[in-house]
Amino acid sequence: MKRKIIAGNWKMYKTLKEGLAFLDVFIPLCNREMMEKCSLVLAPNFTLLVSMAGRCREAGISLAAQNCHPTGEGAFTGETSLAMLADCGVSHVLVGHSERRAIFGETDDFLNQKLKAAVAAGLIPILCVGETLEQREADVAESVVEKQLQQGLHGVDLDEKMMVAYEPVWAIGTGKTATAADARTMHQCIRQCLESMGGGGDLPVLYGGSVKPANAAELLAAPDIDGVLVGGASLNPEDFARIAGSM
Ligand code: PEP
Repeated sequence: MKRKIIAGNWKMYKTLKEGLAFLDVFIPLCNREMMEKCSLVLAPNFTLLVSMAGRCREAGISLAAQNCHPTGEGAFTGETSLAMLADCGVSHVLVGHSERRAIFGETDDFLNQKLKAAVAAGLIPILCVGETLEQREADVAESVVEKQLQQGLHGVDLDEKMMVAYEPVWAIGTGKTATAADARTMHQCIRQCLESMGGGGDLPVLYGGSVKPANAAELLAAPDIDGVLVGGASLNPEDFARIAGSM
């Protein structure tokens, strides 16, 4: 059985003390059975990366950054390069989370640059895509996601190590989850889109949007859903462990 990917996005939550306290509780909950069934990824804030790296590595948990800058180095105050992230023990990086798109105005073209830079730096980008409620109601959800994929992955070899996370914007942090059936429909559409772009057969497609211990099992049971990207519920070590253990 293919291991499912269970990724947690801590956003701008947790101080260093709180992050380490999370690991104190979470790591002992990662039993062998769980680790055989899933690959765990945690995306804390930049400020926690170095301090969490050693313990995560020993526990078999991959560390992700929540953002990156595509340039190698330069006068980009407040930004972090991929080499700097790799230096901290980071192996994955979120690209195009809907909060980056909506609040910080990141465009598909800029995300494409980040994605290419991440691949070139040997990190695994997790490209986040998803439609807003307005777009879903206007019946354009699939075309919106296809455009995000086509532009975000433009010029990228789809056989490189990377992931896509389908995160309907209306389901993020709202308590509303897409039904497993809706998520599967979009995941199938994403697969077809990747195929039409010439590959991506092995590229994992995750679902994100109000994933909780109560709904994780149903989502993870779907063969087209290769894992989940969890925001709010990943802040609580017991909840995150219950999600990872729900297969
Ligand atoms: C996210 O931030 O990627 C996310 C899916 O958040 P939540 O699980 O809180 O909806």
